[in-house]
Amino acid sequence: MRGGAPPGFSPSATQVTELGLAEGATPWIGPGGRIMERLELHLTYFCGERCLFCSEAHRMQRFHRFPVTWGRVARVLRMHAARGIRAVHFTGGEPTIHPRFVEVLMLARKLGMRTSIGTIGTMLAREDFARRALPHLDEVLFSVHGPDAAVHDRMAGKAGSFERVSAAMAHARRMAPHLRRFANTVITRHNLDHLPDTVAMLAERGVELVVVSNLTAEGGGHDRYAELAPRLEHLAEVLPRVPARAPGVVIRFFGVPMCLLGDHWTCSNDLHWDPRVTVEWQAAPGKVAFTGIYSWAPDRKRVHAPECAGCARRDVCMGINDAYLDHWSTAALRPFDSGT
Ligand code: SF4
Repeated sequence: MRGGAPPGFSPSATQVTELGLAEGATPWIGPGGRIMERLELHLTYFCGERCLFCSEAHRMQRFHRFPVTWGRVARVLRMHAARGIRAVHFTGGEPTIHPRFVEVLMLARKLGMRTSIGTIGTMLAREDFARRALPHLDEVLFSVHGPDAAVHDRMAGKAGSFERVSAAMAHARRMAPHLRRFANTVITRHNLDHLPDTVAMLAERGVELVVVSNLTAEGGGHDRYAELAPRLEHLAEVLPRVPARAPGVVIRFFGVPMCLLGDHWTCSNDLHWDPRVTVEWQAAPGKVAFTGIYSWAPDRKRVHAPECAGCARRDVCMGINDAYLDHWSTAALRPFDSGT
């Protein structure tokens, strides 16, 4: 059904049944008739690492006093399953430290959802925990920010972090052959030159897909943007060399201008992105609310630069980080002409 329905599509009772919805429930329909099938749920507001660029740093400071209780999680999962959500990605903070993490996974599976987490390996590095949790997971996205301990631990702000995430990846590879193993690596000015080696290392460890995420100006990334953000010229020099270092691995560049990827522009995540509802604590007048934000395009904190005006791919590329415009020239962008 995804993408196939016309704008303004409203499912009939029969179509609702085909979507597997509860009686009386309706799915979320977005632009172009796209149906929302993916939920991102922030399970914790704490993490043992101190990544320099952590986009959640401010939200963790603000909301760590508000527990994401079992009752709250169960309600969110049931409500979204009833409205057609078919995949859930648990994030945080670090999701594996939620006191009922394994039960949360089991409930999501029972409700018919594929289960996925983003983790820096905190609990999966422990063999006994990995044995209990991995059978209930379909995908794991490991956070790995360098090819070795020297680079990764500096980014993660914690000695021993590379060793932990490496142990978690090894457990997943050995104990859960069914599992899809992905990795996310955040790029800053300090680790960008190591990126080809990082991706080659991840390929050697059997990772199937690597998301290369550009720094965003949120949380620690906001506080340190001028220090950490890679320049467009630097991205254009390094990123096109990355896919060759990991043959057979799918590479996705997230938050990166498409025109800096050279022949690999189709690896831009702007072209491979699914609508999602993100459920997390949000400030409301006089209170906080655990509620959803609906995203139909990967345009959060992205804008088009003056150079984008005549670009032939402006409709599908979300442009550059908005904070970049406040600091540096965008003259290094290379707009596509209509013949490309
Ligand atoms: S829209 Fe802008 S950032 Fe995107 S490919 Fe075109 S010139 Fe580059």
